[in-house]
Amino acid sequence: MNSYYFDEGHELFRESLKAFLQKEVIPNIDKWEEDQRIPRDVWEKMGDMGFLGLSYPEEFGGAHLDFFYDVIFCEEIAKVFSGGFAITQAVVQYMSGPYILKYGSQKLKEKYLPGIISGKTISCIGISEPTAGSDVANIKTTAMLSGDHYLVNGSKTFITNAVYGDFVVCVVKTDPKAGPDGVSLLIVDLDNEGVSRTKLRKLGWHASDTAELAFDNVKVPKENLIGKEGQGFYYLMGGLQVERLVGAIMGYGACEAAMEYTLQYMADRSAFGRPINKFQVLRHRMAQLASEIESCKQFVLHCSRLNNDDKYAVKECSMAKLLATELSDKTMTQCLQSFGGYGYMEDFKIARMFRDSRIGTIGGGTSEIMREIIAKMVIDDISYKQAEKNNLNNNKTNDMSNVDNILQTIQERAGKADSLNNTLKFNFGDEQLYIDGTGDKNMVSVDDKAADCQVDIGFDDFMSLIKGDLNPMAAVMGGKIKIKGDMGVAMKLQTLFS
Ligand SMILES: Cc1cc2nc3c(=O)[nH]c(=O)nc-3n(C[C@H](O)[C@H](O)[C@H](O)COP(=O)(O)OP(=O)(O)OC[C@H]3O[C@@H](n4cnc5c(N)ncnc54)[C@H](O)[C@@H]3O)c2cc1C
Repeated sequence: MNSYYFDEGHELFRESLKAFLQKEVIPNIDKWEEDQRIPRDVWEKMGDMGFLGLSYPEEFGGAHLDFFYDVIFCEEIAKVFSGGFAITQAVVQYMSGPYILKYGSQKLKEKYLPGIISGKTISCIGISEPTAGSDVANIKTTAMLSGDHYLVNGSKTFITNAVYGDFVVCVVKTDPKAGPDGVSLLIVDLDNEGVSRTKLRKLGWHASDTAELAFDNVKVPKENLIGKEGQGFYYLMGGLQVERLVGAIMGYGACEAAMEYTLQYMADRSAFGRPINKFQVLRHRMAQLASEIESCKQFVLHCSRLNNDDKYAVKECSMAKLLATELSDKTMTQCLQSFGGYGYMEDFKIARMFRDSRIGTIGGGTSEIMREIIAKMVIDDISYKQAEKNNLNNNKTNDMSNVDNILQTIQERAGKADSLNNTLKFNFGDEQLYIDGTGDKNMVSVDDKAADCQVDIGFDDFMSLIKGDLNPMAAVMGGKIKIKGDMGVAMKLQTLFS
């Protein structure tokens, strides 16, 4: 069947990548799993072949291709029967590199991107800490500015690639008192003085190295800051969408490989005088799995299309990660069952797939966190905006904790919007903001005056509105905003908050 997503160029790429993996990777997987280490030259070979940096710009050595080349890359590396192999480059290409590409200075891009595209450099993403995984805003690692450098102190745990890797895109607090607005991203070279790495022993992903990192007064040049101070949390929320989408692609990719492997075994294995693929209960189980995998795959491809079209699809990417990784666990469990006792033996690849799959519903945001995000969007009408569009947060001096301090921000917004031709008041209970739009420009004050239209709204909901987390119309319909007076003025709310 012709694919809606993949053309001839994509398929040629797939064939060439598959041939490479077949020759250079699959024969070595058992050894790399045993050694708990992948030799670097395989990444350099992949770089030489043009398999890395697929959608990165050509000026840094990338191929500037569409996202469906990345989809193929993730599908195929997920099919080599080693989650540990697959995750290594997934972290480099999709989970750490993109922060430098999207938000880093030209100098940082020139320094770090060519290495990860040529396969010479291995990067990591350092979010999780011993006391903060799901609760990212609660991280404790600090990076305090001291002259021309930051001093980094703290620790990270579960960091993929960090034992043998070269640098980590590290999530740090540059302003420990500012909550999410105090989070920044900093590139820390892993051979810096004061960095220590401890290799962790794991249930699966044996070929991948996972480290606990400790930072003891690590001196990091100021220029290693990615983007702006205080924006790290918002960059991260954006980047995690691609991370989750990649997790979903690798999830269904691994399911497809497990199915193919299991069906072959079921054709070869006999019991009670016939191949086990003739037992109806096993046939139906595989038919059910095949149906679920195919429908999950099509949904993930739809999400990939949204990503390719530069749509910020938080809900869809969260759903994709949730469904594909949960399905992967189910698939591995049921496929292993079809192998009987052999499924429990290391000689059969399904044993490794079973344990490698288990991390899918945990890493990059657990299934519970995915359901939380989805619930907030479908039940509470919360919406999320991309960091770079969230200009409000670019202004670090804006402490948004009281009405006086948000006045300036609202004035900037209202000043750019068309004049309301009326007066409008946001009433927070004890305090208020008054917009006089009767002149050429909307003028904002904290005056307590009667207006043509009064909007009663809780302060937290108002903050969500200006951060773009709450849609004005949805807030009206959901009862979070109560309007008194001229509804026509209220209809112009959208222009103030878009
Ligand atoms: C092999 C491996 C590789 C990893 N690689 C990386 C990496 O490269 N970089 C990195 O930064 N991190 C990495 N991680 C960390 C991973 O992302 C975290 O383990 C994950 O985000 C969960 O955090 P936690 O382990 O602290 O669990 P916790 O946050 O402590 O959660 C414990 C349990 O509570 C549940 N829970 C927490 N909050 C809520 C809530 N609000 N509602 C409902 N349930 C909740 C969770 O779903 C989970 O079931 C890796 C982990 C592993 C195991």
